[in-house]
Amino acid sequence: MPDQTVDTDGAMTPMMAQYLAIKRAHPDSMLFYRMGDFYELFFDDAVAASAALDIALTKRGKHLGDDIPMCGVPVHSHEVYLNRLIRKGFRVAICEQMEDPAEARKRGAKAVVNRGVARIVTPGTITEETLLEARRANYLAAVAQAQGEAGIAWIDVSTGEMKTQAAAPSELAAVLARIQPGEALVPDSLLALGALQAAWRELQDRLTPLPQSRFDSENGKRRLQALFGVATLDAYGDFSRAEVAAAGALVDYIELTQKGRMPRIAPPVRVVPGSLLEIDAATRRNLELVETMSGERRGSLLSAIDATITGAGARLLAARLAAPLTDPESIATRLDGIGAFFDDPSLRQELRDRLKEVPDMARALARISLDRGGPRDLAAIRDGLSAAGTMKSRLATGQGLAGGAVFADLAQKLGDHEETIAGLADALSADLPVSTAAGGFIRRGYNVRLDELVALRDESRRLIAALQVKYAEMTGVAALKVRQNNVLGFYIEVTAKQADAVPTGDGSPFIHRQTMASAVRYSTVELGDLEAEIARAADRSLSLELELLKELSERVLAVSDGIDRAAQAVAEIDLNTAMAEIAVERRYCRPVVDAGDGFEIVAGRHPVVEPALARSGGGGFIANDCRLGGADDSGGRPDGGRLWLLTGPNMAGKSTFLRQNALIAIMAQAGLYVPATSARIGAVDRLFSRVGAADDLARGRSTFMVEMVETAAILHQAGPKSLVILDEIGRGTSTFDGLSIAWAVVEHLHEVNRCRGMFATHYHELTALAERLGGLECHTMRVKEWQGDVVFLHEVAAGVADRSYGIHVGELAGLPPTVISRAEQILQELESADSGAAGKLAADLPLFAAAPRRPPKHVEAP
Ligand code: ATP
Repeated sequence: MPDQTVDTDGAMTPMMAQYLAIKRAHPDSMLFYRMGDFYELFFDDAVAASAALDIALTKRGKHLGDDIPMCGVPVHSHEVYLNRLIRKGFRVAICEQMEDPAEARKRGAKAVVNRGVARIVTPGTITEETLLEARRANYLAAVAQAQGEAGIAWIDVSTGEMKTQAAAPSELAAVLARIQPGEALVPDSLLALGALQAAWRELQDRLTPLPQSRFDSENGKRRLQALFGVATLDAYGDFSRAEVAAAGALVDYIELTQKGRMPRIAPPVRVVPGSLLEIDAATRRNLELVETMSGERRGSLLSAIDATITGAGARLLAARLAAPLTDPESIATRLDGIGAFFDDPSLRQELRDRLKEVPDMARALARISLDRGGPRDLAAIRDGLSAAGTMKSRLATGQGLAGGAVFADLAQKLGDHEETIAGLADALSADLPVSTAAGGFIRRGYNVRLDELVALRDESRRLIAALQVKYAEMTGVAALKVRQNNVLGFYIEVTAKQADAVPTGDGSPFIHRQTMASAVRYSTVELGDLEAEIARAADRSLSLELELLKELSERVLAVSDGIDRAAQAVAEIDLNTAMAEIAVERRYCRPVVDAGDGFEIVAGRHPVVEPALARSGGGGFIANDCRLGGADDSGGRPDGGRLWLLTGPNMAGKSTFLRQNALIAIMAQAGLYVPATSARIGAVDRLFSRVGAADDLARGRSTFMVEMVETAAILHQAGPKSLVILDEIGRGTSTFDGLSIAWAVVEHLHEVNRCRGMFATHYHELTALAERLGGLECHTMRVKEWQGDVVFLHEVAAGVADRSYGIHVGELAGLPPTVISRAEQILQELESADSGAAGKLAADLPLFAAAPRRPPKHVEAP
């Protein structure tokens, strides 16, 4: 390739001028500048990309006296590199050649090929299969603020699903933690807000700051109205100004990055305030719902209960688990869906076999709508719809059974797509190429004109073979060959020795082209004409194939709503059959979620620990009951033990028990079956958990500080409908400080928050509170002492633990014997000195309500 970057004298070449102008218009993106079969990167882009991709950094010409750093990636494999750059947080502007280089040459030898940015690839706007994770949604979110209210809108560009939610600015962090966007658009004004710094830090390089002007609610409204072709957005919901501003910014950004092409976007669905079980970011992290604390999917609740087969099914399960509901009726509808498949293993199996054949229709549809769809995307729609049709007929056989209503609803959503399937099956070849460049994706026999062009092309090839025979006869050289290469096109070749037999000059058709060491090459006018004809036919057949592909895409897009509905129904079938399968296998039950305030789990198990224990072949998981609050029909205390104080030795299973109950609540409200014999839960509005201790040194907080910040949030926010799980409050400080804090926290939860909750502690002194607080009940993990050893029974029973057996666990962990015996000695002394102190404390300390408030201390500045 000639070096066109700069002239040797250092003056800027037209190509350099073009490059710099395009780069100036896209300063925040790496520029992939198309040159023939490569995307080239220059200057700082090249330096950054070569480091990020681990590819060679070279140079090319000079700019203002300095070498220009350069690196490049081949066009045919560029998605691999794009993937790595996007994952590392870069944005990439793809700059294509907008005309054939031959066109440019007509304008003069030095003319530059027209180029333009065809698309900006950002983490939140990708649609390629190779760039996306099949089982994970990829949300682009936008946050806006208007009239002191915040609004958030998010869309999965790869499926077209868009949602919005109004929130107080203080709630944004929790909403973002739920959505886990691949990219978030944030206006400068919110970026500067001190209270949200933690949320922004969490997003790191997934954050795209934009000027405030892009979040104008009036502009947003107009943009959305135009997009959906409506005069008002009211039909879709009662959106706040901030929600409209956020949704408008999303649409604007998509238009900008896709250079005007809009993907298929379904009208926005508004999250109704109070309809979701609220879970703050810390609780979400602690409970490891969709990923573990170390950021892995394995070991999370989601991975433990995900038996879905398709990507869309997995995404639906993740979405439900991340956003459990509060409305008992909607939860029951979801549970009906699973229940319908519970009793019929052969129906389940047959549907699951079909699911294995279903490609990702929603994502294929998105690519088609962005004009980025290949023949394989159309085939995905064909195959997906046809599997959906088979599933629909299988569901019809279940009508009239217990799940009849569910089957009828699914069948209706699956719809009838015979015409689309037949149309695509008729048009597409059996073997489909990945790229459209070489044609061959439209089936022969589909289009008469195309068949003619292909016949012409093939006929010309036959004519060339005939020419070879004719020329061999004319020259008497039997070994004469007609060949083809990129430089000469078609040519005639004989060996050097046979060259004398080929006449050139006046009257001869042969024109000498090339003499090589061992061969001589010729052309003829006749051969040239045929060649041109073949090229014309190939060109025409390819452009006709592309035209037909476009027509097919348009036909598919015209019925995209129906296809989308079918794709959603398939995802539901996947989720429902998968969950029913797990429920049968692991003996899960259908929970009852009602509007009451009880919490009654019989024989509950931990959804992640139980299967892990089963896999490791160890002892089985011990099931435990949990009853908090609710109507008291046992004739017991009127408060019904809303708050459980759980004591027990180390390693006895307190944390496991606490977490399993929180997870059961989440699963139940997500509309999933739960690991228990029975479960009745009064819908929880907010779930809080403080479990485990982790330093957050990156944010400048010690373990104890993190614990206190999280505890403060709980005490400020939990209400009578909430569920609070607290695992060992007050450990990271002196014993008496810790005990006093834990004591006051229990009182506050009982008297002020009046929530349901569980509090695990090693401060056995706290159990004395149960005598004073009507709603507090003491429970303990049972252990058995046997021949001087301690056996953990993992059983929860009413009562109080007498000791923590911490020294015993220390011994198990391998502390030196001298340390163990010394510790035992000290413990004995401490216990004898302190006997009865806790009881006294319980009697002396005032109840929370009566406690006088201590005036806040002010530290004067010196
Ligand atoms: P610590 O007070 O030291 O934090 P803990 O009481 O919270 O301990 P867990 O961490 O919950 O104890 O559990 C300790 C181990 O016991 C876990 O590794 C788990 O595998 C096992 N275990 C917990 N509960 C059960 C159960 N119900 N059935 C069987 N094994 C269990």
